[in-house]
Amino acid sequence: MHFTSYNFSMAIEWNEHRFSGGALALDMVNTVIYREMPDRRFDRFEDREEIPRFAEAAVRYRAEELGGAVLMPPGNETETGEMLSLREAINALFRRTAIEGAAVGAGALAAFLSRGAVLTHRLPPEMALPLGPDLREGKILPLGAAAFLSGLRLIQPERLSRIRVCPNCHWLYIDNSRNRSRRWCDMNVCGNRAKAKRHYERKRAGTGKDRASH
Ligand SMILES: [Zn+2]
Repeated sequence: MHFTSYNFSMAIEWNEHRFSGGALALDMVNTVIYREMPDRRFDRFEDREEIPRFAEAAVRYRAEELGGAVLMPPGNETETGEMLSLREAINALFRRTAIEGAAVGAGALAAFLSRGAVLTHRLPPEMALPLGPDLREGKILPLGAAAFLSGLRLIQPERLSRIRVCPNCHWLYIDNSRNRSRRWCDMNVCGNRAKAKRHYERKRAGTGKDRASH
């Protein structure tokens, strides 16, 4: 069948590196890599089968934040679209914060809240949504709603002021280092790539500029 190649996709490993964001909301934003380079930008959720795989891995790598809650991926394409709209709203909100400091844009905040409202509106009205660390083991939360709650928890000055953009892959991450000096989403991946790149540039004896270093 001629469409076989379209159905074949390389599943990626949702490993610890892919949860470098430090909060579920940012990990979800980071399912798009190289956001600021149109020719390299890649959305891992274009393959819808990656969404439940991400949700499953998030339960493990965000265990502390989720308190053992189980994440339920969207059930259909409409819900998937709503979740992806929320993801983009989270990105717009915190990417600007990372660049401009501990404030939020009015429009970006409104978009984030309204996208989150679409998702929470689908839940049973009496359902209790965990906001603190007192989450319950085994509680089932829709993935999108969990990302919304995670984003809400980031909206406080101490946490907002620690959100950064990785200069290599453009992921968002929380810099929890004591002196706020973390430069990369993951030193072992982007930090090492940048180091290798600088080494290569030096060897080329100053020809060309290193566009990726800021
Ligand atoms: Zn990076």
